[in-house]
Amino acid sequence: MIQMFNVSKTYVGEVKIHALTDINLHIRKGEFVFLVGASGAGKSTLTKLIIREELPTKGQIMAEGRSILRMKQRDIPIFRRKIGFVFQDFRLLMSRTVYENVAFAAEAIEMSSQDVKRRVPAVLDMVGLGDKHAAYPHQLSGGQQQRVCIARAMVNNPMMIIADEPTGNLDPETSYDIMSMFQAINSRGTTMVIATHDREMVDRLKKRVVGLDRGRIVRDEERGTYHSAYQQL
Ligand code: ADP
Repeated sequence: MIQMFNVSKTYVGEVKIHALTDINLHIRKGEFVFLVGASGAGKSTLTKLIIREELPTKGQIMAEGRSILRMKQRDIPIFRRKIGFVFQDFRLLMSRTVYENVAFAAEAIEMSSQDVKRRVPAVLDMVGLGDKHAAYPHQLSGGQQQRVCIARAMVNNPMMIIADEPTGNLDPETSYDIMSMFQAINSRGTTMVIATHDREMVDRLKKRVVGLDRGRIVRDEERGTYHSAYQQL
C-alpha cells in the first residue's frame, strides 16, 4: 500500500535538520503499525510524508504502486480523501454538534446529502455514540470526543487511518477503549498507522512496531513491544 525507498527528509532553515535518513518501509494493506520513538525521532515527519503534506529531500514514496511524488496537484486532494486522520488534540469544531462535526468532513468531499444522512449515523453508531448526535463537544468526555474524531476519520470510508498520539490526552482505561476501536476498524480491513508514546498500549496489542531514533528506523518487529524499542534508543 505505502512503500518508501531510501527516503530522507532534511528541513532547511537557519540550520539543516536531518529529520529522516534513509528510510525503507513497506506498509501493507490491512496492517496495523505502531510508530514509536522519542520526541523528535521523526514520527510526525514520516506521517506527513505518507500523506504528501511534506516532500522528501531524497528517495521515492509509492502509494498503491504509484509515485506520490509525481502525483499531479489536482490528484493530491483525491489521494488524501482515502486517508482518515485522528489527532491527539481532537480538533473538533466546538460550536457544532457531534453530528455536524462528522457531517462536515463528509460534505468537505462533496458527499451527496442523501449519503451524508445515511453514513453519519452509521459511523456514530459504530463508535458507540448513536445517542449523542445533538451533543456539543464540551458536553462529552475526552474519550467520547476522541470517538467523534474516529467517526469523522471513518465517514469517508478511508483505506488507511493515520493517528498521531491518539491516546495522549486520555486516561489508561479510555485509551484502551480507543485502541480496541482501532483494532475493530482494522479487522474490517482499514490499514492503521499510529504514532504513539503509549507504552502500555503497544505492549498489550502486540502489533507491528517500527522504532525510530534520530530519523532512522532502528527496528521493525512483527509482534513488537514498546519496551524493547525503548531499550535500544
Ligand atoms: P516526532 O514526531 O518523533 O516528535 P518530528 O518528525 O516532529 O518528530 O521531528 C523530527 C525532527 O525534525 C525534529 O528535530 C524537529 O525539530 C524537526 N522538524 C519537524 N518539523 C520541522 C519543520 N517544519 N521545520 C524544521 N524542523 C522540523
